[in-house]
Amino acid sequence: MTRAAISLIKSDLPEKWQQLLSDLITDPKELLQILELDADKHPFSKTGVLQFPLKVPRTFAALMEKGNWNDPLLRQVWPFAAEAEQVTGFIADPLGEAQCNPVSGLLHKYQGRVLLTTVPHCAVHCRYCFRRHFDYAANSPSRAEWQEVLDYIIADDSIEEVILSGGDPLAASDRQLRWLIQQLGQISHLTTLRIHSRFPIVIPQRITPDLTLLLRESSLRVVMVLHCNHARELSRELAIRLSTLVTNGVTLMNQTVLLREINDNSTILVALSKALGAHNIQPYYLHLPDKVAGTSHYAVSKESALLLMEEMQRQLPGYLVPKLVQEESGANAKVRLT
Ligand code: SF4
Repeated sequence: MTRAAISLIKSDLPEKWQQLLSDLITDPKELLQILELDADKHPFSKTGVLQFPLKVPRTFAALMEKGNWNDPLLRQVWPFAAEAEQVTGFIADPLGEAQCNPVSGLLHKYQGRVLLTTVPHCAVHCRYCFRRHFDYAANSPSRAEWQEVLDYIIADDSIEEVILSGGDPLAASDRQLRWLIQQLGQISHLTTLRIHSRFPIVIPQRITPDLTLLLRESSLRVVMVLHCNHARELSRELAIRLSTLVTNGVTLMNQTVLLREINDNSTILVALSKALGAHNIQPYYLHLPDKVAGTSHYAVSKESALLLMEEMQRQLPGYLVPKLVQEESGANAKVRLT
């Protein structure tokens, strides 16, 4: 796509994402009112909300079905009473990330790649989040501390790929992203920039012409891994904006978290893979949820996951079947289960 074409889109689609980000639903009662739901059926966990506040963009709430407590999008953001339950095996840091945090803002878990906690916040609070207890206060580098992050990468020429994570990296402003991406582009042994984000799923307006240009102009190969858990999250608004990323050279992939009573059903997973394929997004990982304290009600057993994979393999061409994986503390890569 030419610059002229991009600027045409820019004039058609005014940037609204920061306004949407500053107007999130944070009161559980307001969310229920919008969705016409009765609070008595599923009272929210006050402990859960204190620990990990409710955050739901209005654009995401608009995709939810009114009057339906079983809506799969609602179930990902509603702080169910089960969050307060203490369940053996579910702990604050099941991945041992604190052990792989040599510099503030950088996690070095796997050979050849490092992960940067680009910003300490997200557009949505997914209740199953594996970083809901993460020490963001200790991982929010100042501009000066970012130099330490860059120095760490410069000093290790085995690092080829940088993963921008968070929080959600697309919660950073374009100005912050431009600075960071330009700095990374100057490190000669880096080849790939990977951006893991759920932001466009919940606020599609984040994919702006400026962001598209910024990614297109990077000297690194840019891969965006979206976090989409259900075909209903792939709105038309999102599809239009993602297509501009693809035509500007960004590789799109998706990782899905397998969540009980949300998408642990082969019909739903097959529909998701087909919808991703139709939008030029490669289904990449199907993740077993991590055993994080407060999230046991989302857990799906390995046995059930393997059965679901068999069903998907039966119904889909191989290129639409994601890899089933889980993370294990201390492992030198994600553990593949299929
Ligand atoms: S967007 Fe990602 S990091 Fe943020 S709350 Fe959701 S799962 Fe966690």
